[in-house]
Amino acid sequence: MSTKKAIFFDRDGTLIVDKIYLNNPDEIEYLPGVFQALRDLRDAGYVFFVVTNQSGVPRGLVSVNNLVEIHNRIRFAFAEHGIDILSFYYAPYLTDSNHFYRKPNPGMLLQATEEFNIDLGQSWMIGDRMIDVEAGHRAGTRSILLTTSIHKDDNLQQHASPEGSFSSVAESVPFILQHTTSSDENII
Ligand SMILES: [Mg+2]
Repeated sequence: MSTKKAIFFDRDGTLIVDKIYLNNPDEIEYLPGVFQALRDLRDAGYVFFVVTNQSGVPRGLVSVNNLVEIHNRIRFAFAEHGIDILSFYYAPYLTDSNHFYRKPNPGMLLQATEEFNIDLGQSWMIGDRMIDVEAGHRAGTRSILLTTSIHKDDNLQQHASPEGSFSSVAESVPFILQHTTSSDENII
């Protein structure tokens, strides 16, 4: 069975504006250039996932029903632009839980890999925090850090640097395409 190369996107501060514990589906706001960026990446053969930490759920600030509705709407909005996000994974665990599914741990990426037969070595994680970068590295992807986070990452030093740093998903596309092996080159 052939494997796919994937891009794992963080959600808040990466695809949509980080509203901090977004709970209202009407408040989804897409970041500039994301639709065109994903079309370009799709055309290069990537499939897409969203992997998002949602500690707002155990804190009682985000309801699972709303979370599911938010993800349905995001999926639909991208579908309207011809982009298929294969699956959304969320980690409803507290910040200090160290749960395997909560970034910087790689559980969500590894679950997608198992379900969709992903080649992690050809894949990327993109997010606006070092926990995203680290989750990608722990799973075996290369990682892109978006440098626009509204959060402060105190533990920056503990983690390996991202392969690239950009101010938006759109800005990262040329770099990713430069470092993409075409599927023809994969045929042995
Ligand atoms: Mg984020």
